[in-house]
Amino acid sequence: AEEVGGGDKEVVRNYFNNSGFQRWKKIYGETDDVNKVQLDIRLGHSKTVENVMKMLTDDGSLNGVTVCDAGCGTGCLSIPLAKEGAVVSASDISAAMVAEAEKQAKEQLTAGNGDIAPVMPKFEVKDLESLDGKYDTVVCLDVLIHYPQNKADGMIAHLASLAENRLILSFAPKTFYYDLLKRIGELFPGPSKATRAYLHAEADVESALNKVGWKIRKRGLITTQFYFARLVEAVPA
Ligand code: SAM
Repeated sequence: AEEVGGGDKEVVRNYFNNSGFQRWKKIYGETDDVNKVQLDIRLGHSKTVENVMKMLTDDGSLNGVTVCDAGCGTGCLSIPLAKEGAVVSASDISAAMVAEAEKQAKEQLTAGNGDIAPVMPKFEVKDLESLDGKYDTVVCLDVLIHYPQNKADGMIAHLASLAENRLILSFAPKTFYYDLLKRIGELFPGPSKATRAYLHAEADVESALNKVGWKIRKRGLITTQFYFARLVEAVPA
């Protein structure tokens, strides 16, 4: 892969179409064939999804609201959004992930369960830099971990440009404690440690948002033993 201007992205795409797809499909699924660490990450991530759903529904009904789920993975967020009536555009850089998300959605969104008829999300294989259009809300969960802050800045600016009212991001926070844990972890690399993980300081994410005229309105922190996510909801300043 080329070193400059896209090296990371090619590595990430390749990982999430192959071993990363197998690993994360299990973590985000419901089967028993996960180890303790994977089970803990599954729990932490499901809390992030719950928190996002709460942030969004506390603001009012999602019925008919357009939502862009950038880096949708296997559809963990897109599906509950669709169940609330949101009109979801779900995309991911990995074709394998998108195919899995579509399969899950078809299984889970068949019958309406009450007043709200779920709308099937529109699925697309696309990296988030090439997304366009306008959405009421843009959400990007646990994607920034694959990019260093200098690339994350541009991604945040681009995502903000697609959102009319809200932008929700989650990322692994760069705090002293977590930084230390990660450094210790790097001394003992396990077999499944396939991509680099980048942590982001909340202040850096906030200044990237402020630079393009957005401000943080709500913050959350989700932690389990092995999963750490800072959650922020930003709105036009
Ligand atoms: N957002 C999903 C969730 O929370 O369930 C998936 C999170 S998973 C850790 C990261 C996802 O980001 C993977 O599905 C990966 O393919 C996708 N991804 C990584 N880089 C991307 C990019 N530049 N554009 C779009 N998707 C990307």
